[in-house]
Amino acid sequence: MFDLHMHSTFSDGKHPPEEMVAEGIRKGLKRIGLSEHSFVEMDDASMLPENEEAYRAEMRRLKKKYAGIIEIRCGLERDYYSEEGPAYDYVIGSVHWVRMPDGHRMCVDWTPEKLEADCRKYFAGDWYALAEAYYQVEADVVRKTKCDIIGHFDLVTKFNERENWFDVSHPRYTAAWQAAAEALLRTGKPFEVNTGAISRGYRTDAYPAKPIRAYLLGRGAKLILSSDAHRKEDIAFAFDRFLPEI
Ligand SMILES: [Zn+2]
Ligand SMILES: [Zn+2]
Repeated sequence: MFDLHMHSTFSDGKHPPEEMVAEGIRKGLKRIGLSEHSFVEMDDASMLPENEEAYRAEMRRLKKKYAGIIEIRCGLERDYYSEEGPAYDYVIGSVHWVRMPDGHRMCVDWTPEKLEADCRKYFAGDWYALAEAYYQVEADVVRKTKCDIIGHFDLVTKFNERENWFDVSHPRYTAAWQAAAEALLRTGKPFEVNTGAISRGYRTDAYPAKPIRAYLLGRGAKLILSSDAHRKEDIAFAFDRFLPEI
């Protein structure tokens, strides 16, 4: 078992890398990867450029210290709007923002209040238009981030289970995600099945949702489990629930 998507105190996680690694060992992982948020301007959750080398140095130290016990990878969750930086062991490509024609970046996973206000402001309250804009960016995530793994494909649904803003079986929503899925399937990169919104209480299903997972599997995609843990307790969260499916 492995888990390659998690955050430590180098970005917006609660625990330092070594505590995450120790918990990974305790949970029996064969391989663990930290994937701090790449720097994005005005995003407090992201890793500051001046801390990037310290993160990489700490991961080198841990690789040596735990050699033969657990395989450690130094990764990055690169946002679509981040600049390219130094090479990492692997990159998860993620879309957390959508840039509007006026230059404003709208965050899809910050708070429901903010997203609702942006939907009114930029899409006249049309949630399907917002989803279409999100999936247009998502469709391009592999090219832009040069990622190895496609992160939380349907993040735009983060608050939708509670807020009930749009119907995920609506033809416009389906057409939007399927177009992005088809574009990304052509890259051959694996999609993650990310349990982070379950452990944090936003959703009862992983990203992407079950109908999307079924579609991707039907189209021959590779799916890999990840926890997106922001605290050590959530490493490999609910993996046993999704393992039989993928
Ligand atoms: Zn993310
Ligand atoms: Zn993440």
